[in-house]
Amino acid sequence: MTNLAHWLKPCLQQIQLLKQTNRLSHALLIMGADGVGQEQLAREMVKDLMCESDQSAACGNCHSCQLIRAETHPDFRILDGEASSIKVDQVRLLVKQINQKPQVGQNKVVLITHAQAMNINAANAVLKALEEPAPRTYFILTSSQSTSLLPTIRSRCLLVNIPTPSLDDVKTWLMDQPESEELSKLFWLTTQPFRLLSIQQQNKVPLYVDLPAQLSEMLQGSVTANDVLKSLDNNNFEDFCNGLEAILHQCICCSTGAQLDASLQSVYPILISRLGIQGLMQRYQALQKLKSDLKKTNLNPIMQLTYELNQW
Ligand SMILES: [Zn+2]
Repeated sequence: MTNLAHWLKPCLQQIQLLKQTNRLSHALLIMGADGVGQEQLAREMVKDLMCESDQSAACGNCHSCQLIRAETHPDFRILDGEASSIKVDQVRLLVKQINQKPQVGQNKVVLITHAQAMNINAANAVLKALEEPAPRTYFILTSSQSTSLLPTIRSRCLLVNIPTPSLDDVKTWLMDQPESEELSKLFWLTTQPFRLLSIQQQNKVPLYVDLPAQLSEMLQGSVTANDVLKSLDNNNFEDFCNGLEAILHQCICCSTGAQLDASLQSVYPILISRLGIQGLMQRYQALQKLKSDLKKTNLNPIMQLTYELNQW
């Protein structure tokens, strides 16, 4: 638990206390904004629940703890809805596996991350499993859009709400992360700690760090839209859209009185004088639509984003 972000610790302690006093629900729903650490908290809970010792927190030494660390525990199953929707066949297979006796310890755990990605049939299959719980089987769901889950699933779960950390909390936490200085240059994009880490793990920090400066040069006429988009391809167009969207969003907020991030000091005055608030909002909506269209169709991202930037 020592490495757990400090805003997650009270949630984990609450669960550990319930486990120790045998009052823990067999279904938990971890909620919170994207990137605050739902998965990290869920993984810690899994360790505690799978441990064979009778301590509230995982001992780290027993056979179950070793198998969890090696990611080979036969009584633990995970469904991740981040990349694609979760389908009913996946849930049925998992429920079948989990209905067998535990092979190692006493508990079995199913973790469903990004649970909003369950389609309606998958959600109903999970609901059925929650209504007829197998003995000593725990379901842990995580979601940043928990209101889009079936109300009947929510009502069966113990709700664990992760607070959104303050900017000071995130800054303090970042100091313990590698390349924290580079990451702190991305606060105009996001202040959600685990989104920052995910960008780093995907080696996308340079793409985002360079964007405001390149855009500023384009707005001043020293480079073209093509120069700004020179590293754009089919694998990163969503990042470019996210970055441009975030810049417009910050400018819109600034025009209504919010403080402007230092990275955007030379971008904002030009954009607001050229486009006005209405224009900023139009460009923001156009980008959202473009991002969605690019994902669904074969539109050429370079042509589309060049066209978009030429209107700025
Ligand atoms: Zn253990």
